[in-house]
Amino acid sequence: MKAYTVPSKEITVRFTADVVVCGGGSAGVHAAVAAADEGMSVILVEQFGSLGGTAGNALVTPLMHSHIDGNPSCSYITDKLNKKMTVLDGIDASGNQFDPVVLRIASEQLCLETGVKLLYYHFISGVIKENGEIKGIITVSKSGEYVIEGKVFIDCTGDGDVSVLAGAEYTKGNPDTGKCQPISLRYTLSGVDIATFGEFIRSEISRTGVSKGASYDGKVVYAACTATDDWAVTDLFKKAITNGDLVEDDKVYWQVFKLPNRNDTLAFNNPEFFEYVDGTDSVHLTKAQTDGKAAILRQLNFYKKYMKGFDSAYISEIAPMVGIRESRHIVAEYMLTGEEMLEKKKFGDTICQNNYPVDIHGKNLKFGQKITPVDDGKPWYDIPFRSLVVKGFDNLFVAGRCLGSDFLAQSSLRIQRSVRSTGEAAGIASAIAVKQGVKAKEIDGSMVRQLMIAKGATFKE
Ligand SMILES: Cc1cc2nc3c(=O)[nH]c(=O)nc-3n(C[C@H](O)[C@H](O)[C@H](O)COP(=O)(O)OP(=O)(O)OC[C@H]3O[C@@H](n4cnc5c(N)ncnc54)[C@H](O)[C@@H]3O)c2cc1C
Repeated sequence: MKAYTVPSKEITVRFTADVVVCGGGSAGVHAAVAAADEGMSVILVEQFGSLGGTAGNALVTPLMHSHIDGNPSCSYITDKLNKKMTVLDGIDASGNQFDPVVLRIASEQLCLETGVKLLYYHFISGVIKENGEIKGIITVSKSGEYVIEGKVFIDCTGDGDVSVLAGAEYTKGNPDTGKCQPISLRYTLSGVDIATFGEFIRSEISRTGVSKGASYDGKVVYAACTATDDWAVTDLFKKAITNGDLVEDDKVYWQVFKLPNRNDTLAFNNPEFFEYVDGTDSVHLTKAQTDGKAAILRQLNFYKKYMKGFDSAYISEIAPMVGIRESRHIVAEYMLTGEEMLEKKKFGDTICQNNYPVDIHGKNLKFGQKITPVDDGKPWYDIPFRSLVVKGFDNLFVAGRCLGSDFLAQSSLRIQRSVRSTGEAAGIASAIAVKQGVKAKEIDGSMVRQLMIAKGATFKE
């Protein structure tokens, strides 16, 4: 490949903080707030102009249930966030159904009120390191390139960009296929007559005699269609494919949710893509946006022609950020495995409990458990704190969907509820590292959990 040599240059240090949080998704927001709450000066660096990451800018809602009895929140910050979202009418009483736009606003309010310094429109493009210590990150923005210095860094970029720029090891994708999980470009439609759509779903259930993956209780619509071909709306998709109004891939994964307090709006968990799925390849990301918009127009036409309730529907938002389920897995002091997840393994340094099942998308959707879990009366697995400590670095944590785990374990732990806990734990740990002058791997994870609990997080005994 043709290449140019770029002259070396001096880059100015523009900002300095105790803790630099890289990426403002679910993990990043929780990390930044937790560290600031512990008295740290915190800078949060984000490439887009708002927070929430996948949950905000990729429009991914609702929060999945942990599948643990009582759905314990291993996060004290979630409660603060929910209170703000309630004031803004953007969340239901369960705390699961939420409006991604309101999440962006509430996350920003929470960060600003806690004293977090936000730096939007900054892309992290480099790392300055000396031996195993990160000195600063390099960002590119309209203001040019500069260095942000810190004492501790938390990589919440979802793709592990900072860890990889620093030279950390990683794996990526499904070991069986070499490919990452499918990616999606989510959107919302407004102007929808939801009651009519809901009644239509009900009538499809009675017409086909199939109720799988569809429900409407007057408030919440849920309908899904997958490659397994036995869902209430499969018939409709088949008809549209035969008529040339949809393509086969439109049928593989289609899912729709109502948003709280938006009475004419539905959020779609599709279109999904299966070939160009590498979230760390900008060509793949571009393709998701261009193919995605074409698919969204095709799907809107399908709803108008084959379903009811969409006569006045219009596209109210297309996610500016592509929905990436999985990319890099950063090598950490402990790599949580799929087997440990399925065996419901417990760790002394747990900072999150989860029981969400295996969830591998694709034309052969794998959802469920592969092996029978050990019945110890505690049906959940733990995420150990050590999975957040990037191997080979003294002052670098990784939190969120790219933490130290294998492909199978990540398919379960990536849900928003758990990535929030991992961010929160990394934020608290970063404060311990600064206050006590200790290395990341010297921190006792059980202490981190105790601090989370003292502030209001709930863990099952
Ligand atoms: C299509 C889809 C559907 C899903 N469905 C659900 C669901 O229904 N419920 C559920 O609970 N979970 C669901 N998930 C999983 C969950 O939403 C994500 O795993 C989780 O939100 C990831 O959070 P995160 O903070 O780890 O990463 P992200 O939310 O991806 O945040 C990373 C942040 O870092 C920023 N960033 C990245 N690189 C850089 C850089 N170099 N410089 C500056 N900024 C950078 C990004 O802009 C982003 O804001 C779904 C995921 C997808 C993709």
